[in-house]
Amino acid sequence: MSEENPSLVPLPGHLYVVATPIGNTADVSTRSTSILSKVDLIACEDTRTSGMLFARLGIKRPLIAYHDRNERKAAASLVERLQSGESIALVSDAGTPAISDPGFRIVRECRRANVPVVPIPGPCAFVTLLSVSGLPSDSFLYVGFLPPKSAARRRFLEEHKEFERTVIVYESCHRIEKFMAEMEDVLGLDRVICIGRELTKKFETIHSGTIGDIKPLFEQGSKKGEFVVIIAPKSFEL
Ligand code: SAM
Repeated sequence: MSEENPSLVPLPGHLYVVATPIGNTADVSTRSTSILSKVDLIACEDTRTSGMLFARLGIKRPLIAYHDRNERKAAASLVERLQSGESIALVSDAGTPAISDPGFRIVRECRRANVPVVPIPGPCAFVTLLSVSGLPSDSFLYVGFLPPKSAARRRFLEEHKEFERTVIVYESCHRIEKFMAEMEDVLGLDRVICIGRELTKKFETIHSGTIGDIKPLFEQGSKKGEFVVIIAPKSFEL
């Protein structure tokens, strides 16, 4: 009789921080499916969004909401449940929890209370794009979402105009055109960037080149969906 790989079975009183696909359901790992199928409880950023993924994967575990609005309160009660011996998985709507998503607070509370926290790694949008960008990936600054106000974003770009490391930004479909224009204004047409849209999904689009090269392609393409933007170090040339 073969024994089950112990890393596929959740332990009592452990928090599992589980990455989920950023679009393509086939990117879910064997280990994440196994842990999610066996924990006592899954804390989700949005129980409806995760519920749809779990329905496709045949995962039927109790779900509880853990999001920006209830993070502080929910973190304390989840730690109590972990201390009483329940195994809990934390997922966000897509990708890796705590990366521009809720998660940091519960992990911090677990660490303060000596509750074991186990990473179950998987997709993350910026790592996905960085790995295929052809831009320097040895040292980078990940900033997540820039402030919504144009003046603040321009200030950030001014501050990083001469930066000699790669900069990575998350952007929504509502602001991507504005951000492209801001990058052109502040960084100039010769700065090398990489833009990834709808990564791992049907309409995945990746452009790598100078802002001047990418501009016409970007203008012709759809602006719907989710975007990651990577800005190369100042002196980088393709
Ligand atoms: N936790 C996620 C991760 O590990 O990447 C990030 C969540 S954050 C709330 C959502 C942002 O991530 C989107 O606005 C977009 O900038 C980026 N993103 C997520 N999925 C993406 C995808 N499939 N293609 C491009 N960008 C994506």
